[in-house]
Amino acid sequence: MDDSELRSVLAERVANVQARIVAACARANRDPASVTLVAVTKTVSPKVAAIVAELGIRDLGESRPQELWKKAEAVPNVNWHLIGHLQRNKVDRTIPLVALVHSVDSDRVLEALDAFGRKRGSAIPVLIEVNCSGEESKGGFALDALIPLGDKLPTFAGVTVRGLMTMAAYSDDPQLARPAFATLREMRNALQMRTGLALTELSMGMSNDFEVAIEEGATLVRIGTTLFEGMS
Ligand SMILES: *Cc1c(COP(=O)(O)O)cnc(C)c1O
Repeated sequence: MDDSELRSVLAERVANVQARIVAACARANRDPASVTLVAVTKTVSPKVAAIVAELGIRDLGESRPQELWKKAEAVPNVNWHLIGHLQRNKVDRTIPLVALVHSVDSDRVLEALDAFGRKRGSAIPVLIEVNCSGEESKGGFALDALIPLGDKLPTFAGVTVRGLMTMAAYSDDPQLARPAFATLREMRNALQMRTGLALTELSMGMSNDFEVAIEEGATLVRIGTTLFEGMS
């Protein structure tokens, strides 16, 4: 695809995803402004990421820190979301580029971010990644680790926990993801009651299941394939 073709295909896909978000919100009686589309650019070049930003998408996501460094340099004026594992030795270089870390997946990462946030003197906005599906291949805190974690959160002055994130098990049938999304919402509600923290964000839903996620309360949907399939 040449650049103008890329732009027109992407514009059409963005419009289509946005229309599907609006329709899912209507089914759930939600305001579409309560759902942010995070375009996951991990499979495409900085050039394609720049085009999607020019089309008005202000939130872009990457799962690997090194890729994020590269793309944040090429596309600086957007909110970058880190949605994959952050190695502790990459915290210093990554955090200044990122608006929200979705993928705090262990105590070690939480402690490293807390230390960095304290050192720089402002708390880092994060989500806690939760393994709702119980699959061993998936990262994140186990469900039964969340309440003990919540009880410790007030001691972490270097991070601000804004909510929870999960990845459902992959399936051709998006309805099968619904229980995992409902579980994340219920855990958020329970944790919020217990800690008094404002856990407003639920990052859940990808290309194959984002509409179900919105019906279950997602505030951030992370979409790659549906936008960028066939591009590089
Ligand atoms: C790649 C990725 C996505 C996007 O997945 P698609 O199915 O391509 O939309 C969302 N979230 C995370 C954590 C990812 O790694």
